Amino acid sequence: MPAMPARPAILDPCLIRIVCPLKQRSRRLLATATHQLPRNQPWSHPPASTSIDNDQVARLASRPLHPLTLADLVQHGRPPLSASTLFTSANFTLSLLPIRLAHRIQALRNLPFIVVSNPHISRIYNNYVHSLSTLLPYQERQINTLEDEIQFTEVMADLVQTHADTIPILARGFLECRKYISPGDVTRFLDEHLRARIGTRLIAEQHIALHLSSQPHCTHNDQHAQDGSSTSIGVIDTALRPAEIIRQCESFVSEICELKYGVRPTVIINGQPDTRLAHVPTHLEYILTELLKNAFRATVESGKERDPIEVTIAAAPDPSPSPPESIHLDPSRADPTTSNTPPGVTIRIRDHGGGISPENLDDIWAYSFTTFGDEELLDLGNGNADALNAISGAGGDSSSLAGLGYGLPLGRAYAEHFGGSIMVQSLWGWGTDVYLKLRGLGKI
Ligand code: ADP
Ligand code: MG
Repeated sequence: MPAMPARPAILDPCLIRIVCPLKQRSRRLLATATHQLPRNQPWSHPPASTSIDNDQVARLASRPLHPLTLADLVQHGRPPLSASTLFTSANFTLSLLPIRLAHRIQALRNLPFIVVSNPHISRIYNNYVHSLSTLLPYQERQINTLEDEIQFTEVMADLVQTHADTIPILARGFLECRKYISPGDVTRFLDEHLRARIGTRLIAEQHIALHLSSQPHCTHNDQHAQDGSSTSIGVIDTALRPAEIIRQCESFVSEICELKYGVRPTVIINGQPDTRLAHVPTHLEYILTELLKNAFRATVESGKERDPIEVTIAAAPDPSPSPPESIHLDPSRADPTTSNTPPGVTIRIRDHGGGISPENLDDIWAYSFTTFGDEELLDLGNGNADALNAISGAGGDSSSLAGLGYGLPLGRAYAEHFGGSIMVQSLWGWGTDVYLKLRGLGKI
């Protein structure tokens, strides 16, 4: 059996190098600093939240969420990065994260008792309690020493690491609980939870990335930073070329497709492949991987592997219409140096894989809806462990072509986070066009 292809790196390799030692140090630190619950152990009881002060959670959860913009994220990252910029970034991060975590804890507590008692869901709950407990010691003070800032970055690294496996764990938990909660309630909870998680993770990763780019021994984008040609500000690339990401994702998806089916369709990129925009590369990578997986699977399963998948890139001078309120783009808070119309891009992925049947079309945006492997997976309603394992595995490492049913809804959540969108146009019996619109940040 050939080795599984490696997924494109979610974190910059430099980030991984620092996060690992940071994580080791942070474990030592946290062991003494907090009275957290043991993690990674399933709960046998509903969470009683003994490890954090309930009033404090309630107080934090009653505070409004700060709408996050790309401009917020770049504001502390312009070179040269000084210690005081890092302190400002840390304090800004600290002003956002406890509130966000407390909101999630409350939402988990509001799930039906039997659902939050599920070992997988309560494990996620524990992770949030743990992460909040690591931030509470900072509540009463400002970060204004390097030692504090380093410790805080370690806490951020721990936070990112702790929540890394959330999606397959939640997916599994909700599948096990499907008798006790309606599909509509699951979708509503997951949509809110996973959208919030995108922002929380981004805030933490941005501070880690800025910390790293300020380190002389591990400079983010070393060479480019020194000669001033770097286009990165933390986790944001201000001159991201979608065509490059498409090729990286294509190569990953082609390999898993070949492993599963023994063939790999080709991808042609046309339109305006030199288009650039300011965006978060890991977000684009997630979305495009999922959309290409869907196109590859449909193409091969309908026997059309000779028909190339066509990806058309079009620079969009006019950004997508005003995003819905949940999208956190607040023009009044935009960076003053940003041009009025942030350049956007539309990417159309066209396959000839037969399209989506009309009876399935309404369901494709529901978490866990999939037509993959129907004949292989036994009835999930019986809580079949093998089926659950198969599904959790599919989402755990992204190295399955399909099966979790999260690709479209989560891809759309990523696209909408900064005001973009995903639209699916199916021509049943023929093929599917998916339109991914992204709104850039403009001139920064
Ligand atoms: P998964 O791929 O794990 O099934 P997704 O959310 O990515 O989950 O997709 C949900 C369902 O939508 C798929 O199972 C498939 O039935 C349908 N679908 C998505 N994209 C396409 C496509 N390009 N062609 C045909 N069907 C598609
Ligand atoms: Mg998919």
